[in-house]
Amino acid sequence: MTPKENAYETSSWLFIGPSKINGFGLFSRSSILSGAVIGQLGGIVMRTANKRTIQIDHHRHLCSDHIDFVNHNCHPSAYISVVSEAIVLNALEDIVGESDEITIDYNCSEYSLAERFMCRCCQNPNYVAGYEYLLQTYQRDYLRRINRFALPHLVQRARVD
Ligand SMILES: [Zn+2]
Repeated sequence: MTPKENAYETSSWLFIGPSKINGFGLFSRSSILSGAVIGQLGGIVMRTANKRTIQIDHHRHLCSDHIDFVNHNCHPSAYISVVSEAIVLNALEDIVGESDEITIDYNCSEYSLAERFMCRCCQNPNYVAGYEYLLQTYQRDYLRRINRFALPHLVQRARVD
């Protein structure tokens, strides 16, 4: 398998490789320290969510093909933040180059996911449906754990709803 180069516009050190979770995933050639910026994703701003979107504010979603390669993990190595109309990937923990997959928690990417799925990272798979589903099913421990890095507009909306 030839790694796909330059998966992200800003970072040539990122590559797509075989994932232990699902198909292919995103990796870094060099190690990244916790808290560091991994890369930035641009895309098309849309009014509705689909399986390739990240919610960038209350009513808008950024669609990018690269999101296909960022796998979900209930204990992710990275989280996303939004800077104007781009998505920034940040390391949540130290990521070892070539071996640690860069993953995010999809429950933190959309209030309500367009395509819901069972996770492949846990022995007892979790149903991944978005931030709203965690609220509706009273998964307080999960919410407490992710609230420090969940997108602020998801947390805010949860308080309003
Ligand atoms: Zn899981």
